[in-house]
Amino acid sequence: METNILLETRALVKTFGSVRAVDGLDLQVHAGEMVGLVGPDGAGKTTTMRLLCGGLKPTSGEMRVAGFEVPGQVERAREHIGYISQRFSLYGDLTITENLEFFGEVFEIPDAELKARARELLHFAGLEKFANRPAAALSGGMQKKLALATALIHRPEVLLLDEPTGAVDPVARQEFWHLLVGLLRGGSAVLVSTPYMDEAMRFNRVIFMDKGRALLIGTPRELIARLEGHILELAAEPQVEARRVAEKDPDVEDVHAFGDRLHLRVRELAGPMSRLPGQITAAGLSLIHLRQVNPTLEDVFMKLLEA
Ligand code: ADP
Ligand code: MG
Repeated sequence: METNILLETRALVKTFGSVRAVDGLDLQVHAGEMVGLVGPDGAGKTTTMRLLCGGLKPTSGEMRVAGFEVPGQVERAREHIGYISQRFSLYGDLTITENLEFFGEVFEIPDAELKARARELLHFAGLEKFANRPAAALSGGMQKKLALATALIHRPEVLLLDEPTGAVDPVARQEFWHLLVGLLRGGSAVLVSTPYMDEAMRFNRVIFMDKGRALLIGTPRELIARLEGHILELAAEPQVEARRVAEKDPDVEDVHAFGDRLHLRVRELAGPMSRLPGQITAAGLSLIHLRQVNPTLEDVFMKLLEA
């Protein structure tokens, strides 16, 4: 095994009765790399994370974290893992500092070192001013930053973050990702799950997961480059009927709604660009715009999910 691979699974399988929650997963995360597990609810993201930190026993397959076999050497591996579970919660009555110290005590960090480490992490997370505020009185974004800080208390070089930006506003999400970039520069390996496809561009590599399987693995650029055809963005009202018109066009391969816009994946541009505006208006609908847009990872994922 290469020395800079900090996290690895081979042919990993976890079944719950007849459900194959993880179904033959091969993944690697190198030092300095942030890999995203992206996929809809039920894809197997949380199960993967729990297997990696020893919270669940695999049905079959192999795992290594920071050079230690899991579950065989899970105690050693855990010294190197910082984990934020999807349901992670802070102690609301405890202040920021007390939360940090609490999680440090779990790892039996000596008192003086713990105090110094807590100060360092408060600085890292930009929470110094709020050190004495109870966690329950923090904004959602600050709670996420504190959660990350607590996961780092024992200086792990492998981070497993299960939907760390759930239910947080865009600005706070941005700040959170910024903190992670700092950790990567220090050589950490980060595996992070998200159901938000629009977050996938942030990762060095993306694993698109569905039904326990990795459907695609690559850098965001590689995955986008693999999409066949072009994307047209259509805004028209009512959308349901505009969709019907678009689906009838012979050059339109598929149609997906992205908020109030439709994305049409087309074999070629000229035909649909010349036909569709007329057809939309002829159907009594109002055309707002039809234009070519650059494909995004969401376009790639939507195509996969329909298969
Ligand atoms: P995700 O985190 O991507 O939403 P999960 O890993 O939580 O997906 O779930 C993957 C699949 O495994 C789902 O079908 C889920 O219902 C099932 N599953 C997860 N945990 C358990 C469990 N403890 N018992 C039974 N089924 C489970
Ligand atoms: Mg989950």
